[in-house]
Amino acid sequence: MRSIEHFINGSALSDATRSGDVWNPSQGEVQATVGLGTATTLDLAIDAAKAAQPAWAATNPQRRARVMFNFKALIEAHMDELAELLASEHGKVIADAKGDIQRGLEVIEFCCGIPHALKGEYTQGAGPGIDVYSMRQPLGICAGITPFNFPAMIPMWMFGVAIACGNAFILKPSERDPSVPVRLAELISEAGLPDGILSVVHGDKEMVDAILDHDDIKAVSFVGSSDIAQYIYSRGTANGKRVQAFGGAKNHGIVMPDADLDQVVVDLAGAAFGSAGERCMALPVVVPVGDDTAAALREKLVPAIEKLRVGISTDPEAHYGPVVNAAHKQKVENYIQLCADEGGELVVDGRGFTLQGHEKGFFVGPTLFDHVKPHFRSYQEEIFGPVLQMVRADSFEEAVRLPSEHPYGNGVAIFTRNGHAAREFAARVNVGMVGINVPIPVPVAYHTFGGWKRSGFGDTNQHGMEGVKFWTKVKTITQRWPVGTAAGDHKEAFHIPTMG
Ligand code: NAD
Repeated sequence: MRSIEHFINGSALSDATRSGDVWNPSQGEVQATVGLGTATTLDLAIDAAKAAQPAWAATNPQRRARVMFNFKALIEAHMDELAELLASEHGKVIADAKGDIQRGLEVIEFCCGIPHALKGEYTQGAGPGIDVYSMRQPLGICAGITPFNFPAMIPMWMFGVAIACGNAFILKPSERDPSVPVRLAELISEAGLPDGILSVVHGDKEMVDAILDHDDIKAVSFVGSSDIAQYIYSRGTANGKRVQAFGGAKNHGIVMPDADLDQVVVDLAGAAFGSAGERCMALPVVVPVGDDTAAALREKLVPAIEKLRVGISTDPEAHYGPVVNAAHKQKVENYIQLCADEGGELVVDGRGFTLQGHEKGFFVGPTLFDHVKPHFRSYQEEIFGPVLQMVRADSFEEAVRLPSEHPYGNGVAIFTRNGHAAREFAARVNVGMVGINVPIPVPVAYHTFGGWKRSGFGDTNQHGMEGVKFWTKVKTITQRWPVGTAAGDHKEAFHIPTMG
């Protein structure tokens, strides 16, 4: 059986006393094992990073950008191979796997412009003969810990920007689908990145704790579930690190009475069920405003959901594939039972779904609930599966309140033809990313990604200029070049200097 190894100092390294299974979710079979590293494995990556980082930081930004240009070309050349590898371990369909890679690639494209982003600021003549300027310098060695659901995009959000800024980076990807992160590290190495600047170490909590406790790691970025995000933030900051930790989500789609319902149905099908609902920017809650809107939407939604095709990840006709593993399938089905027990009306039940010829695959059929109430635990918590819950609102005010008061605050969307309602909603809703007639408002790479409340701990977002800020520290220089001060004219000053 294939064994997935760490990638340290530019080459594969096998160093593990324990290993984990890597499944093919479409087949329901183990396809590989991954060695789970320890603090000793991490030390090897740190040693390599320490040796390489000063020269990388001293490499001019344009040369660092050239590595990013080469990396971009290599990702494009290997797109099919990467997508197949990704789909086989994650379960998402090939077109969606390509989207995962493409969204990461767009961050690499942003990194191709890093010289511009690192320019700093300058004030000439801030005082008599005095100029002030600032520069952004890398932090040193940084780390990223990533979830299973975007094994290409999220690692690239982190290591792309961190490396372009002159840092060395240690990536700890999800142990459930670790192959693509390793392949990306191989490709960026081929693109010209010096050995030791990007290492990939595999592992579970033991490795994560080693990262959080390591004195040489200056900053940690995390994406995953909220309880773990909070833990990472607390332990990492207690150890004096800069930490950003993004958590789970429960995004709402508000449907106003004037919305184009045919478009909403199409958007909801993709946003609620695409990738089997395993997206932090999925739309698992729909909020029609008014009972008439709810009835009209439901009438169109049910047949659309019943037509969805669930298939193996390589089926080009499939809308979505399996969930990631057997435990997660069970968890999603338990939530379906819970929502029914809490009083939700189970309109379409996706439990017990099997695919002929792939009976062991971890499939869950599309599921729709109506009349879900805000106090349900199944509404308050993240399900992360192909389950759409309809929560009816009586008014626009209630539709603003529901996502605003929900514990998660990652994304939200409003569907309407009314510009004033959309504008009010965007300004007032207590959520980090808003879509207006856009069901999955993942910002483009040169803007910035980040949720609020239990969806994000820390105060700096991913990628764009926020990413550059996170992965660098600012140094500000105040300079004066005096000319010809005559002997005896040198003056003491005991007050705080001012600019006069
Ligand atoms: P997860 O929290 O189980 O795992 C994420 C990472 O944390 C993995 O690398 C894993 O090895 C590590 N980890 C797991 N348990 C740990 C523990 N006890 N201590 C220390 N580290 C631990 O998340 P997942 O199941 O891989 O991913 C799905 C979750 O990620 C969902 O909640 C989803 O909403 C969230 N997510 C959020 C965003 C976002 O940007 N907000 C994006 C994608 C996914």
